[in-house]
Amino acid sequence: ELTQFADSLAHGDLAHRIRPRASGEIATLSSALNSMADSLSKLLSSSAIEQSRLKAILAAMSEGIIATDDQQQILLANAAAGRMLDFDAESAIGRPLWEVLRTEDLLKATSCRLDGGKQRSIQIGPISGRFLEVVLSQFSSPSNAPGMVIAAHDTTETVRYEELRKEFVANVSHELRTPITAIKGFAETLRCGAIQDPQQGPRFLAIIEKHAELLKSLVDDLLDLAQIEAQTDPIHRSPVDLAKLINDVVELHAPTAQQKRQILRGEVPADLPAVFANSDYLERAISNLLDNAIKYTPEGGTISVAARVEKSRTIIEVADNGIGIPPDDLPRIFERFYRVDRSRSRAMGGTGLGLSIVKHVAQAHAGTVIVTSTVGKGSTFALEIPLIPPAQQ
Ligand code: ADP
Repeated sequence: ELTQFADSLAHGDLAHRIRPRASGEIATLSSALNSMADSLSKLLSSSAIEQSRLKAILAAMSEGIIATDDQQQILLANAAAGRMLDFDAESAIGRPLWEVLRTEDLLKATSCRLDGGKQRSIQIGPISGRFLEVVLSQFSSPSNAPGMVIAAHDTTETVRYEELRKEFVANVSHELRTPITAIKGFAETLRCGAIQDPQQGPRFLAIIEKHAELLKSLVDDLLDLAQIEAQTDPIHRSPVDLAKLINDVVELHAPTAQQKRQILRGEVPADLPAVFANSDYLERAISNLLDNAIKYTPEGGTISVAARVEKSRTIIEVADNGIGIPPDDLPRIFERFYRVDRSRSRAMGGTGLGLSIVKHVAQAHAGTVIVTSTVGKGSTFALEIPLIPPAQQ
């Protein structure tokens, strides 16, 4: 009976127990075998729990993980690894790495020896549009030769951010170069004699002044944009008398509109409830919209600024009957430095950053800015911000 029991234990049958004896050596042996069976089944069930815990952790991880033995046979691979490296994680177990991975660079890296404890990191991609950082390290087991762990981390966002940053720096440099080149060129021409010319001299000086003005606007806009973007905490808000704020902005722009013989109207009901906002940012956004409306509306045109409350949102609308914006350009005008007509914008002293600032001001207030426009008929920009910030509702 004892031999049979030991045999069935050896074959993994842990459910049975031997009948206990009253006393003697056989009784001691029986009870020892029974407790061995108890400990074995406890050990096995805790190892099964460990396994399912590991599986759950691996499945929940956003990093891709593959572990191989010393022969590069895959021991485990989670779903994220399959997604990132483009293979089926479930059917990969037990197969050689080279059969499963299709990325040449990664296979090459895995075939190089890793000296004990060392790690190697490589950047790969794009694989189906994603960029990855892969860290290879050795893992040792007491009984077998060391295997390998491959951990893949999705760096697409970082790579994209880096590209955006480079593009932004290139754009800024390009934008700054134009006025600087003009200022330098005309200053040189003046120094080489044009300053004596009663007609050319003042003209060149006016050009220098205009470009210096553009340079100042560019630097101001860049600083404003950086300041709004850097704001990670909720912005500082207080109750703002919108009617007064809009009237002030309209008054400030009235002389420019007058020069173009435009009609500039502020249509704000006096009983408009106060809006909980950052007054400086809001003033800047409305001023930018009004500035554009005046710039892109021909002489004699009409521009209006209106405000109303609708469904717990304050809507500020700046409308003009100017040149309008072509439908293809509409989705892009809020991008930094995007202009429909680059030379026209520059000639008007535009930086290409005005609407980008408006968009950021709207976002900082958990609001939106919507544009509707028809070429030749005019444009309407609606800045919508919640009356009460979402956090306080
Ligand atoms: P800019 O300094 O060039 O005016 P913005 O970011 O303020 O830069 O605007 C981006 C572009 O959107 C402008 O260059 C112009 O082409 C277009 N735009 C903005 N507002 C208007 C408007 N009211 N009417 C027509 N086009 C406009």
